[in-house]
Amino acid sequence: MPFTTVDFPGCLSAVIFCQGCTWRCGYCHNPHLQAFCAGGWAWGEILRLLGERKGFLEAVVFSGGEPTAQAALPDAIREVRGLGYKIGLHTAGIFPELLAEVLPLVHWVGLDIKAPFDGRHDRITGRAESFDAPAESLSLLLASGVPHELRTTVHPDFLGPDDIADIAHALSERGAGPAKLQPFRPLGRANS
Ligand code: SF4
Repeated sequence: MPFTTVDFPGCLSAVIFCQGCTWRCGYCHNPHLQAFCAGGWAWGEILRLLGERKGFLEAVVFSGGEPTAQAALPDAIREVRGLGYKIGLHTAGIFPELLAEVLPLVHWVGLDIKAPFDGRHDRITGRAESFDAPAESLSLLLASGVPHELRTTVHPDFLGPDDIADIAHALSERGAGPAKLQPFRPLGRANS
């Protein structure tokens, strides 16, 4: 459970990496977390550590993998909030229904915008029609008023200047601000 100041801007945070993701992005930053399997830290142990760090840390960020793939996420967030922490969430917007459930509980969201909301999205995720869910998640996030950052990983095999311009247009059409562009870093990737 690393501590950072970049995963929830402005807050010294602990990051909980949730296992499991239903997409298979070619540039995945955490491919070892794609599988849904038992293992890792016991939830009780995480809560104990967080309890010990109250006053030192301000926030806890749920990252992954895809945190909204976990049905237990809302209860986990409530427990961490009960310890007095702010909550951050990193998501690719894969499960809008669960996102809608947790948006009232979180203080900041980092939402991945992988591509324009069309077939170019599927080239990255390896899943058919994967663009509807993040489009819906974006609408939910904007309607919620929760502070957020939209982020786009720029891998030259998947996104060129025209694609990036189309992402900006798609976001503007929906009333969203621009996405922060993050250059692909070849660490821990599924393939290059
Ligand atoms: S990059 Fe994110 S959405 Fe894509 S496979 Fe990895 S964890 Fe899932």
